[in-house]
Amino acid sequence: MEITFAGAAREVTGSCHLVHTNGRTIALDFGLFQGRRSESDRKNRELPTDPGQLDAVVLSHAHIDHAGRLPLLVKSGFRGTIWCTPATRDLSAYMLADSAHIQEKDAEFLTRRRKEHAEPLYSMADAALTLEQMVSVPYDRPMEIFPGVRVTFVEAGHILGSASVIMECEERGRTIKLVFSGDIGRKGLPIIRDPAPPAGADVVIVESTYGNRDHPTMHDAKDRLAAIVTETAKRGGKVMIPAFAVGRTQEILYELRDLVYQRRIPEIPIFIDSPLAINATSVFELHPDAFDAREDLIQRSRDVFRFNLVRYTREASESKALNTMRGPMVIIAASGMVESGRILHHLANGADDPRNTILIVGFQAEHTLGRRIVERQPTIKVFGDEIPLRASVEVINGYSAHADRTELREWMHHVRSGKPSPSRVFLVHGEAQAQDAFAAVLRSDGFHVEIPDRMTHVAI
Ligand SMILES: [Zn+2]
Ligand SMILES: [Zn+2]
Repeated sequence: MEITFAGAAREVTGSCHLVHTNGRTIALDFGLFQGRRSESDRKNRELPTDPGQLDAVVLSHAHIDHAGRLPLLVKSGFRGTIWCTPATRDLSAYMLADSAHIQEKDAEFLTRRRKEHAEPLYSMADAALTLEQMVSVPYDRPMEIFPGVRVTFVEAGHILGSASVIMECEERGRTIKLVFSGDIGRKGLPIIRDPAPPAGADVVIVESTYGNRDHPTMHDAKDRLAAIVTETAKRGGKVMIPAFAVGRTQEILYELRDLVYQRRIPEIPIFIDSPLAINATSVFELHPDAFDAREDLIQRSRDVFRFNLVRYTREASESKALNTMRGPMVIIAASGMVESGRILHHLANGADDPRNTILIVGFQAEHTLGRRIVERQPTIKVFGDEIPLRASVEVINGYSAHADRTELREWMHHVRSGKPSPSRVFLVHGEAQAQDAFAAVLRSDGFHVEIPDRMTHVAI
């Protein structure tokens, strides 16, 4: 077996690892690079392998940094199967279409500005074709994707449908068990189940996004959410929450519903201002089987995402109307790292108003507008204009959908509790600081840890 680390190597986006086994090449994820525009565009356009030479893709979950280059792969001639869980397939239908829409808009904009044709990375039609190559397999059901290559999805507890991947490869009479963590979630996240780490592996490829720190508890996060919404409502302001349309939006909505029910926040309107989030919410409603049945609200309510205060604004005109509407209100809008989407309009209109709050509930990668907000820069650039950042900025890390250092370590210990015991561990999906710190933790626990750079190639 050989592995090429083609993305999310020494960074968090562009997840993609190529596994060569038995004369086949199988990609684990095929994600989009995000961040500095020109750099990520260049990385996105160069494929790590000849699409005709790639035999299959195994997709851990629907987030765009894991699935977002699949349409480019299909556009370039890949005709193999893309294996994933049922909810991942359903979410990908919307997410890839949305991503294609963004690519098309970007290309149009560049064409106008440069006065020469700019080719989108891929189109809506490419995204639609990609769906036809996706085949879903439920959790915990081993599937022989090629003779001698068996894949099993286990719960990663990160977003709806998210999986860690167990890949067992028979090579010349020996079996190599490769475990790919995907993105690992957390115990107690709203709605979705807890991670169920595999036991035993020869080789582990594990994410390390928060390998250098621990999160506050979910309980503290909920208290802070209640306090921030209540305070902002008192000022008559808007709580503007940039959130991933898939996962975080539904979780925050679920938490707000619970807080209203517990009378811990005032009854103010909550706008879900993202067509993608609205579509994703409908996918959640299709997969209650993947919910955490132990949770109170899930037992109590049949219709978790629909209640009297929530408004879904699908049309652009409804979204724009929010700009002139007075607070208090909560607006949840994509994108999660404030790189695109309707949140930009709300910030352009509301970031300079001290009554408002910008509430950050997710990871903000380097070189994103979200990171500048977290750093509380005096101004932020939105649609080319410098806007003074006078709204209060609050950060709640407790809702992170990523395991923290302690949880990642526990996950690794669980993997080691079974047979075989991992002989090699590769850290991916983390910025350098987080990775170096987490490598030190794992090494002190006796693991053999490597941190590959992009396009590092290893023989197992
Ligand atoms: Zn993810
Ligand atoms: Zn990720």
